[in-house]
Amino acid sequence: MSAAPESFSPSPDTQAYLARQHDLLIGGERVPASSGESIAVYDPATEAQIATVAGAGPEDIDRAVAAARAAFKGDWSTMTAYERARLMLNYADEIERNLPLIAEVEVLENGMPRMISEYTIMKFGAEFLRYYAGWVTKIHGMTIPVSPMDARNGETLTYTKREPVGVVGAIIPWNAPLAMAILKLAPALATGCTIVLKPAELTPLTALLLGELAEKAGIPAGVVNVVPGYGQTAGAALAEHPGVNKISFTGSTAVGKEIIRASAGNLKKVTLELGGKSPFVVFPDANLESVIPGAVRGAFFLQGQNCMASTRLFVHEDVFEPIVDGICQMAGAMQPGPGLDPASMLGPLISGQQRERVLSYIEAGKQTDAELRCGGEALPGKGFFLQPTVFARTKMDMKIAREEIFGPVLCVQAFSDSDSLEDIAAEANDTDYGLSGSVWTRDISVAHKMAALIDSGQVSINCHAAVDPAIPFGGNKQSGWGREFGMEGLEPYLKTKATTVLF
Ligand code: NAP
Ligand code: MG
Repeated sequence: MSAAPESFSPSPDTQAYLARQHDLLIGGERVPASSGESIAVYDPATEAQIATVAGAGPEDIDRAVAAARAAFKGDWSTMTAYERARLMLNYADEIERNLPLIAEVEVLENGMPRMISEYTIMKFGAEFLRYYAGWVTKIHGMTIPVSPMDARNGETLTYTKREPVGVVGAIIPWNAPLAMAILKLAPALATGCTIVLKPAELTPLTALLLGELAEKAGIPAGVVNVVPGYGQTAGAALAEHPGVNKISFTGSTAVGKEIIRASAGNLKKVTLELGGKSPFVVFPDANLESVIPGAVRGAFFLQGQNCMASTRLFVHEDVFEPIVDGICQMAGAMQPGPGLDPASMLGPLISGQQRERVLSYIEAGKQTDAELRCGGEALPGKGFFLQPTVFARTKMDMKIAREEIFGPVLCVQAFSDSDSLEDIAAEANDTDYGLSGSVWTRDISVAHKMAALIDSGQVSINCHAAVDPAIPFGGNKQSGWGREFGMEGLEPYLKTKATTVLF
């Protein structure tokens, strides 16, 4: 593997964008970090530096929160719902118009294949905003029949209003930079909140670009503020800031727990989208022609750097060997390479550190009785590429089966006719996580019984990780607090005020 050949160089537009000075975006102004700190951004496919961005510190977070507060009290709060919806639709159009630039920037900072970036920009960028723009005009309270004090029926009126919680601090990871940002921005904008967005230090460029496009779409200055910076400084300052009303966090379970502690000072509302170790259960009557590609996509999409990844397969003994062989064959045929090369199907991991971490899990797996059936090696040369890896005959007491690896490592475990659905579910649920899961069978009763037994926020039948702006998404157990997507995704950004009048 070598650096991207000339023909896969970014467009002149993208090159010009990367070469710019990337300041913080606060209150509609581009401002350098007050400490003068900057962060280098690298292409994980070539290891070459592609840009430098300002790195926010606590003082910059103060400024950004003040700008978001001012915007919350300004035009944004008096604007009609129709106007806000229209601005969100403009924003979606801006994103769609700038798709080639956003995709190239995302591919270069994250490493994902371009086709995947383009798909997520449309589905979890433009369409996600359009979906939430549709909700703006449909957020309303109720009237409630009550008789408080000694009032008689008809002598009182109680009504509720749904109000925006205020300033939202959003902290996101690097695995799908654009989608992660929009998942926070869309419900915040729809409810009339303002936002301070801290992208991952490794992938700040798409977030900054999104901040500029919000401005271009006509969203008032200060509604969307973007502050790249390190988690320990910028992220921590945002999580504990007394001027922030709500934190919406996506990332690891360990940092999620720190967010809860940091938010206690002013009892912010907190929602958390955290890690996963999702099961994928295959019964012997399942259609293997869809199971095998489904398992490959489920486990190796975004090189396994995907919170919903189906990293634990539970497969009936009768179909175990053909499935493991089929997965290895298909995964082995995935062409690794830089995401701008249209032939690339498998990008690099995000960093050298992340690849080392994943390799240490593979080493741990090799020390067990599990069978390493394919992969297991880093690719030589530049870029943090790693072969898709399959361990068969894993058991739930193995580290590789228990811990979230966040890389292309799949564990396959067998069950047999002597296992009841409850036995299979006990293994599938034997994890701290509960984000996603899937069941593969043609038997409708088995499908629904098994889906009901899996302890996770979402389960798919004969597909894995069905995601759509309208499908609620979020985790049980240590996979998180609250739900994003759909109507439920508005709730964490709203508060209810009840008003009662005595006639
Ligand atoms: P991470 O280390 O938890 O980082 C996530 C974000 O939190 C980054 O912006 C990070 O900044 C920031 N951060 C780190 N320490 C912080 C602190 N003390 N206070 C405030 N913010 C802090 O996670 P990651 O390694 O980037 O991403 C992988 C994890 O995200 C996996 O566990 C994965 O399952 C999870 N994830 C979950 C979902 C979901 O929807 N459930 C989706 C995608 C990913 P830095 O960039 O500077 O570290
Ligand atoms: Mg981190």
